[in-house]
Amino acid sequence: MSKTRILPLNFGGRSKAPVRAFDCEILRSKRKTLALYIQHKKVVVRCPLRASKAELEEFIGSNQGWIEGRLYEESLRDKEALRIERGAKIFYRARELTIVFKEGRKQRVMVMGDEFIIQGHKLTAAKAQIQVEDFLIDKASEYILPRARGLARHLGVEHKITEIKLRKTKSKWGHCTSTGILQYNWLIMLAPFSIIDYMITHEVCHLLHMDHSQRFWNQVEAICPDCDHYIGWLKEHEHRFWF
Ligand SMILES: [Zn+2]
Repeated sequence: MSKTRILPLNFGGRSKAPVRAFDCEILRSKRKTLALYIQHKKVVVRCPLRASKAELEEFIGSNQGWIEGRLYEESLRDKEALRIERGAKIFYRARELTIVFKEGRKQRVMVMGDEFIIQGHKLTAAKAQIQVEDFLIDKASEYILPRARGLARHLGVEHKITEIKLRKTKSKWGHCTSTGILQYNWLIMLAPFSIIDYMITHEVCHLLHMDHSQRFWNQVEAICPDCDHYIGWLKEHEHRFWF
């Protein structure tokens, strides 16, 4: 696939209403139709190799209302993104807590009442962030690793696991490779346990079915009957977990 980058493509000049210019990435490939979506505050257009600039402008222009709506939604979500700072809000296990920095020789993270307390010596936002990362990685290895293995054992597929990795990824919660590597994003430890259990289930079920077929979803639902609800919950709230 050939990839042409045009940044930004400002098509607003001919429109009556004043239009904000936005970044637009054009991906040309051997396809027949035009399609667009929003990714990381940017418009991405997929188009045929020979699509002209006029065609592209018309296509983007006809989708302008939708694009602006989505970019606005993203900017709202951006405001809710997690910042590990004194006094900031953290959405932890479906409750909104206030981040408190506490002076102390011993490094620890505690949840008490409505406070998410980060204790350390001469804390800065950067140090606090590392402590929260360590806290979540510890929680993830304590919780996710044994449960993923336990569920795999129950389903008779534990032998298929070659490794379970915990990694912070840009946008994904989990991943399972055909070679049996399960991967979980430890940021999921900010979510309620029901959501974490759904994610564990989802990836372990890929050891049985390496796709998102009906058979795969039947298996997930047999273990986690409310999975639709959890998927919806994640879609609505996941933007608050990345930092
Ligand atoms: Zn999947």
